[in-house]
Amino acid sequence: MFKKILIANRGEIAVRIVRACAEMGIRSVAVFTEADRFALHVKRADEAHFVGDDPLAGYLDPRRLVNLAVESGCDAIHPGYGFLSENAEFARICAERGVTFIGPAADVIHRMGDKTQARQSMIAAGVPVTPGSEGNLTSLDEGLALADEIGYPVMLKATSGGGGRGIRRCDSADELRQQYPRVVSEATKAFGSAEVFLEKCIIDPRHIEVQVLADAHGNVVHLFERDCSIQRRNQKLIEIAPSPQLTPEQRDYVGELAVRAAKAVGYENAGTVEFLVVGHEVWFMEMNTRVQVEHTITEQITGVDIVREQIRIAAGLKLAYRQEDIHFRGYAMQFRINAEDPKNNFLPSFGRITRYYAPGGPGVRTDTAIYTGYTIPPYYDSMCLKLIVWALTWEEVLDRGTRALNDMRLQGVTTTSPYYLEILNCPEFRSGRFDTSFVPNHPELLHYSVKRHPSEVALAVSAALAAHAGY
Ligand code: ADP
Ligand code: ADP
Ligand code: MG
Repeated sequence: MFKKILIANRGEIAVRIVRACAEMGIRSVAVFTEADRFALHVKRADEAHFVGDDPLAGYLDPRRLVNLAVESGCDAIHPGYGFLSENAEFARICAERGVTFIGPAADVIHRMGDKTQARQSMIAAGVPVTPGSEGNLTSLDEGLALADEIGYPVMLKATSGGGGRGIRRCDSADELRQQYPRVVSEATKAFGSAEVFLEKCIIDPRHIEVQVLADAHGNVVHLFERDCSIQRRNQKLIEIAPSPQLTPEQRDYVGELAVRAAKAVGYENAGTVEFLVVGHEVWFMEMNTRVQVEHTITEQITGVDIVREQIRIAAGLKLAYRQEDIHFRGYAMQFRINAEDPKNNFLPSFGRITRYYAPGGPGVRTDTAIYTGYTIPPYYDSMCLKLIVWALTWEEVLDRGTRALNDMRLQGVTTTSPYYLEILNCPEFRSGRFDTSFVPNHPELLHYSVKRHPSEVALAVSAALAAHAGY
């Protein structure tokens, strides 16, 4: 087993990886930029190294991070999600320098990170994919011809995209003409690649994804599915495991497809195969070759520690579980608490957390890197906390989610938490029947009134009095 792991990430996922290391008796090494000097992952790791004044550059420099791993005596690097986690070059440099990259091989990252290559691999493996481009589009005209063939609406997508960006629905040739240069430019800026492709837009699909684990000995298992249909602008807000809307047959089918997909590309480590589902139809969408933000809910229903398994697999150990050993129990739901104002078009709300009390009690888990007095820097993701609840039944998990969101005190920044309470209260959501159109179809859920906690009101009053007294 590894002695020391460098964590090439920040925030809650870096803290999550520190926790796995601590339980496994592995030393953890954090990295931080100036903006993260007071970040929790720096305090929680066994060792921490400064990687520069720029808020981002240090987290995105493969050579520097691998050098640092070698110099600090690390035998492995965990990339987390985002940043360099799906950067094949990073995995390749690790291999060159004899540091184990905790993830799949560089060529697999490369192939699956490229959405058109991934589609081709899936077609070859007999996994259904949405009708669309065979390769990347070479011109707008090629796109227009293809869209005529498959029929509008179509989705124009960045080939190297992620995080819900670089995706546009086009309902007509005019829209496609308009969006094409926009997506190309967004893809170039955000992902450093101008490549785009087209696929059929599936109307009102559910986003169903399957967690897989694959070891270096040819064993591949799945840990069932997550329903991530509650999205805003193609970004997940609430995730649920298992999906309340799959039959046992559909569950077996998507699980089997995901295992087939992973085997077909010689996948190793933890990964997620994402599908779009309408009724009994299922289409492959993409594979994420890293730990996902919502791995937590799968851990809650299966009891499998996914980050621990990632580390064990990278160390060359056999999977600790066969498919028949893996069961799920109850329902888990994750709320991505973002420092954003839902009432103001989800505008980011960075600043100082004046008070934070974690919710607790049975079936409640929080994964976060915030603490009272911490200032959320404006340079990173606005997700500041993941609240995860687990309960035996669907009804109970809804109630537990409501209770836990109400239990939590997070003051100083505006968050998406009151909006989630509205979603939990919505009969359509409670019925367990929803798809990716839920958020855009329910604008009324944004019309809640913000109930301020008495202590917050007292704070505001005393601040006003103090300001008044000063004059
Ligand atoms: P998940 O797929 O785990 O649900 P998200 O899509 O929400 O996660 O992305 C998690 C983080 O990783 C976000 O900060 C997102 O911007 C970033 N990210 C995801 N994919 C990419 C990518 N291809 N390039 C750059 N950043 C990415
Ligand atoms: P990312 O890499 O950013 O996660 P995905 O390809 O996974 O991008 O798509 C993100 C979301 O966009 C999906 O969860 C789904 O809601 C929507 N989406 C993507 N492709 C399609 C499609 N062909 N039809 C309908 N919705 C889609
Ligand atoms: Mg995706």
